[in-house]
Amino acid sequence: MIDFHCHLDLYPDALALLPQVEQRNAFTFAVTTSPRAFLATSRVFSGLRHVHVGLGLHPEVAQAKVGELDQLVALIRQAPLIGEIGLDGSQRFRDTLPVQRRIFKAALAECQAQGGRVMSIHSRGAEGEVLEAFAHHPRAGAPVLHWFSGSQRDLQTAIKLGAWFSVGPAMLKGARGRQLAALMPMNRVLPETDGPFTQERGVPLMPWQAWDACDALAEVWGLPVPEVQYQMQQNLRNLLPALAPA
Ligand code: MN
Repeated sequence: MIDFHCHLDLYPDALALLPQVEQRNAFTFAVTTSPRAFLATSRVFSGLRHVHVGLGLHPEVAQAKVGELDQLVALIRQAPLIGEIGLDGSQRFRDTLPVQRRIFKAALAECQAQGGRVMSIHSRGAEGEVLEAFAHHPRAGAPVLHWFSGSQRDLQTAIKLGAWFSVGPAMLKGARGRQLAALMPMNRVLPETDGPFTQERGVPLMPWQAWDACDALAEVWGLPVPEVQYQMQQNLRNLLPALAPA
């Protein structure tokens, strides 16, 4: 099983959860929200073979963590996976867009300078601008748009740019999320939870529950569930040949 975007370091009692995540998931992309969190989490998770920590600076904390921007840029050289980065143009975070942009563009420029990275990308309320930034950094690597909620037109632009998508059970519950998923190329989709921020009856979705997205995708795409599950494993191998389980 694969979870391509979760905040494993932010679960209540994360340490107790680790053995089960390691055992159940063949691949967990543990995104982080700041370079310092990346360093701390990398240390704690260093013994886990199937958990991969991303280097990030989340747009929602851009204002609070902009002091870590130099560290973010410096660490990209050693980090094969980047996330969570991006822009948030929703009402609550719109005011900090100037500092968000500074961080996001610096990160993309360095990813490009380092030959490209796989990146888990936040784009809520700023989809058009995020896509423009990728158009300006064509060698930044492979963006994986996490929980994409833009327009169908933005989605078409993203597909043309070569973007990937990570989708989860929460996104696929709603009609809008399902409509978008129906239009995504199935060879560029991966499952995610975005846990612990997504919940079911007050309980955070666990990293292995990302796999439930395969059921919803099978419905949306009109395919048998095992075929979708196989496709997801193939997709991970194509995106990350060096890190995916054989
Ligand atoms: Mn997230």
